[in-house]
Amino acid sequence: AKHEGKSTYHFFEPALDEEARQRRQMEIDLRAAVKEGGFELNFQPLYSLAQKRLTGFEALIRWNHPTRGRVNPVEFIALAEETGLIIPIGEWVLREACHQASTWPDDVSVAVNVSPKQFAANGITGTVLSALSASGLAPDRLELEITESIFISDVDKTLATLHSLRNLGVRIALDDFGTGYSSLSYLRSFPFDKVKIDKSFVEDLGTTSNGHAVIRAITTLAAALGMETLAEGVEDVAQFEVLEREGCENIQGYLFSRPVAADAVAELLRDGAGY
Ligand code: C2E
Ligand code: CA
Ligand code: CA
Ligand code: CA
Repeated sequence: AKHEGKSTYHFFEPALDEEARQRRQMEIDLRAAVKEGGFELNFQPLYSLAQKRLTGFEALIRWNHPTRGRVNPVEFIALAEETGLIIPIGEWVLREACHQASTWPDDVSVAVNVSPKQFAANGITGTVLSALSASGLAPDRLELEITESIFISDVDKTLATLHSLRNLGVRIALDDFGTGYSSLSYLRSFPFDKVKIDKSFVEDLGTTSNGHAVIRAITTLAAALGMETLAEGVEDVAQFEVLEREGCENIQGYLFSRPVAADAVAELLRDGAGY
């Protein structure tokens, strides 16, 4: 191997070199996808237990890679964040999600993930406003999903941005609730419309006896603060029944539907009553 030769080759550890090469290639491919439109949105239903109907969809990005096929967001969102490509990608997601939602019935909304870097970038409020006006979507049909990590940087700026987004009339949900290091203090600092209970807590319902207690604590707290709850990652009826009993208002998960392509949304809306 190279590194057994001259000492200068110590810099070229084969494994590191290969990793760096793959990363560079992925960045090149990601840039090309941004330029040429290599992304697609899938939509997963959000179901309201209180209203007993499908009330919206979460938009989830997919990358159709020319040689690797479909690449899931866990594989490229982090790189997009590091390279700043999340800004144009996130803008495309907002525009496309609003556009798609504008073709749905008026009582069906769309939830869009906003990454921490995208949230912190100057101009996020303008980007959201522009996506709304281009599509004609009513602001209250757009829900932005943000995570607790936005509070790690400048808290005052974060709160100012949250308020300016809220002033547009959009709804704001706190995603992956319970996975951050200090969730409770954030709930106190801003009136979120919705708290999305992380799927790790839903998973726990089948395996630990304290699972119910955690769900009950979160729904009770959210209710006291005037926020709705949604449980993500609901996969079976047993989990569903506990969540219903503990007063969770909204459900999302494979039990109802996996994320589907945009052209399958109409079908889900038609069959929605079958839940
Ligand atoms: P997330 O926001 O927590 O989205 C929920 C994830 O859980 C999705 O994975 C969804 O497909 C998956 N899921 C839904 N129901 C179930 C279930 O019953 N069981 C299990 N095991 N999983 C379920 P996906 O689509 O791979 O997205 C992963 C993450 O990538 C998202 O987590 C979100 O953080 C990020 N992401 C996805 N789309 C976007 C986007 O447009 N922009 C940004 N910034 N991030 C995105
Ligand atoms: Ca989400
Ligand atoms: Ca989530
Ligand atoms: Ca998650």
